[in-house]
Amino acid sequence: TPFDTPDVTLITPTATVATPTHGGRAKCLQRLVRLNLPVPQTVALSFSTVHQIATGVLPDVDGILQRFKDGCLLCVRPSSEDPDWGGPGAVLNIGMNDARFVELSDRIGADAAAQIYKRFVQTYAIHVARLDPDIFDDIADDGQIGLGQSLRAYEDEAEEGFPQSPARQLAEVLRSMARAWEGTTARLLRQAKGAPMDAGLGLVVQEMALGLGQGECGSGVLQLVNSRTGENQITGRYLSQSQGREALDGGTRALFLERDPRGPSLEELAPEAFAELNAHAALMRQRLREEMQIEFTIENGELHILDGVRAKRSPQAAVRISVALAEDGIIPRHEALLRVDPHALTELLHRQVADDADRDVLGAGIAASPGAATGRIVFTAADAQASAARGEACILVRRETAPEDIRGMHAASAILTERGGMTSHAAVIGRGMGLPCIVGAARMKFHVQRKKLISEDGRSLSEGDIITIDGTSGQILAGAPKMVEAAQDDVFRTLMSWADAERDIGVRANADTPADAQTARNFDAQGIGLCRTEHMFFEEDRLTPMREMIFANSAQDRKATLALILPMQRADFTELFRIMQGQPVCIRLFDPPLHEFLPHDRAGLRDMAEALDMPVSEVTRRVESMGEYNPMLGMRGVRLGVTVPEIYDMQARAIFEATLDASRDGAPVVPEIMIPLVSAKREVEIVRTRIDAVAAAVRNERGKDFTYRLGVMAETPRACLRAEEIAQHAHFLSFGTNDLTQMTYGLSRDDAGRFMSDYVKLGVFNEDPFHVLDTDGVGELVKLGVQRGRAGREGITMSVCGEHGGNPESIAFCRAVGVDYVSCSPFRVPIARLSAAQLAI
Ligand code: PEP
Ligand code: MG
Repeated sequence: TPFDTPDVTLITPTATVATPTHGGRAKCLQRLVRLNLPVPQTVALSFSTVHQIATGVLPDVDGILQRFKDGCLLCVRPSSEDPDWGGPGAVLNIGMNDARFVELSDRIGADAAAQIYKRFVQTYAIHVARLDPDIFDDIADDGQIGLGQSLRAYEDEAEEGFPQSPARQLAEVLRSMARAWEGTTARLLRQAKGAPMDAGLGLVVQEMALGLGQGECGSGVLQLVNSRTGENQITGRYLSQSQGREALDGGTRALFLERDPRGPSLEELAPEAFAELNAHAALMRQRLREEMQIEFTIENGELHILDGVRAKRSPQAAVRISVALAEDGIIPRHEALLRVDPHALTELLHRQVADDADRDVLGAGIAASPGAATGRIVFTAADAQASAARGEACILVRRETAPEDIRGMHAASAILTERGGMTSHAAVIGRGMGLPCIVGAARMKFHVQRKKLISEDGRSLSEGDIITIDGTSGQILAGAPKMVEAAQDDVFRTLMSWADAERDIGVRANADTPADAQTARNFDAQGIGLCRTEHMFFEEDRLTPMREMIFANSAQDRKATLALILPMQRADFTELFRIMQGQPVCIRLFDPPLHEFLPHDRAGLRDMAEALDMPVSEVTRRVESMGEYNPMLGMRGVRLGVTVPEIYDMQARAIFEATLDASRDGAPVVPEIMIPLVSAKREVEIVRTRIDAVAAAVRNERGKDFTYRLGVMAETPRACLRAEEIAQHAHFLSFGTNDLTQMTYGLSRDDAGRFMSDYVKLGVFNEDPFHVLDTDGVGELVKLGVQRGRAGREGITMSVCGEHGGNPESIAFCRAVGVDYVSCSPFRVPIARLSAAQLAI
């Protein structure tokens, strides 16, 4: 018989059925059979059998039929390896024909029998014989009349009577389901969900429990948790006199499972079956080690379990369910960790557009910072501040943002820019602040001067119009769609504490301000891995001294203006040290080109002339003289430190004085100081000599000792190549993979957004390399840098502080090449902690 072959298998506790050969549904049904649950007789067809069927080679269909009770009806359901890959719809009531209609009419009544037959004729016609569904448009609702009409419609269209042989019906159903799986559209759809080219389909043939007839009959689904929250709650639907998943589409006709004031429930209609169902569900949870949704049928009061599928769950529910399974001792903690997708945590850390919200899409760009926010459009940073002052949420819309927009960005609820990529200014700041942000929305038109924004489909939006930025998907939406709130609860914290116990790579946060540092602590970062100090200079009270310093004619004048900034910087650092309570704080010395601090428009030039008491023409001339063609590769980073050393001197002094201030009543603080954009050993030597001198001076003045660690950012290709000699002067190397990506590809961080989506769509790049580390190219340099750096100095600390530090795939690479810790935006710290734990398990 065919049942001796592994390809057509009667599901028994001992049969050989496996997910990779028969699919997940077949395997799950076998587990239910092993638990002794009331599962109707089931036969599983393997992937190879189904593939053969698609090519025209049928298995022994009569043999399959012989495994079932004479005269029973059958259903066939798909069983792919991963249920998410989809599959053809189930076909119920196979075997129904004129003779069985008569038999069944005696047993369950003519109307119920006619319903079943009619439904089968229509399903078979549309999905198996592929007749036009319109032929059934005018069929009567009434069971018996409708049945006659359906049979006639079939006969007219197919030019033959409805097939009466159960064997032929089953063969045709198997063939059509097998072919549907092999179709191009179905293949492309499942490949988009991650299925391999050759993903197989199994089929299960199961005896029907009818759900229609005398006594309490019906069908439904039940699960023990709420899919949205993950909390324990019996949920599902039940519909009397129904089959399959009708209860789910049954609308108001469907009943609640538990006693409910709104109407009768399954618990009242069939208390014994309900109690049994709950007991089975609990057993399934325990033994299948998963929250399942049970598909069941009640036939004259008797319960049948047809199927179990993994209960659907929101990210929030996924966390709660995993933690509960581990706390109940059903799965080990490390498995709970593996079951939560780190990417999905984003949704717990930010407000999101609800899944079922209506989306009126105005345009799309690069999803640069996740979360969603609604507000009125404003086109300038000043308007954003004014809006915030009125207590009105606003969305800051700019062609791109510049450091001078920072206050407006703080005031806005979200940011939208025409230009830019994953590591441009708006994106980095947005992520740092946890502010939803979309950049590079180049297909929309940004008439910022005229205060108009034109959607991709030509709709014109003005200042004050309400839009929503969905920074998770990258969509710009009209109006205010429904949102779901962020949910970081105790359960989330529990999961995170388990993650920390597993992982073997550190996670710090990139934090520039006390507020960022506080967020970093809230997310349990192990210190600050990158403090971009330049962000401290855009406060109003610092900008003017900063500009005076930039225009200073001599080192002496420069020092004098920097002296005004020194106490503010000292206060900044003291505050950071205080918040971080002894955790490491890595401060990067000033990095951007100085002209970023100068005004770009006439009004700004006039303001600056007034503040510095200079003629506008002179200010304009000097601003222009400082312009660079390619500022990202120009006078910035350590190049400034070498040629305008007073800035680094001031910063080093502020750091050391803050170190002593913050160490006064606690454990001594050991600051980390980092030099950006290094490409040559000599740069480090020069800066290090001066910083050591400042340290000596502060020790002398204060009569107190302290230590500090000096490190280098490896963010130019040359720094990676020459890491061995550079490491001799550094306690640590931190790979700035943003600049390193920019320089390795020769791809501007600020302009890449224009063509990045096309490049990814065309498959030129698999992913945006500013988002997911390019392990082949940029990663190769990181790997070399780590190896050479370690060769140059034993025990040197290695880290990655570019945006990639918060990306799970990139973290895997960092860990593999021996990086000690990653540092990322505070809001991505939990994602990094979980990813790191999963890698270590
Ligand atoms: C980097 O380049 O990766 C980095 C962390 O520094 P920034 O983004 O400030 O240039
Ligand atoms: Mg950099």
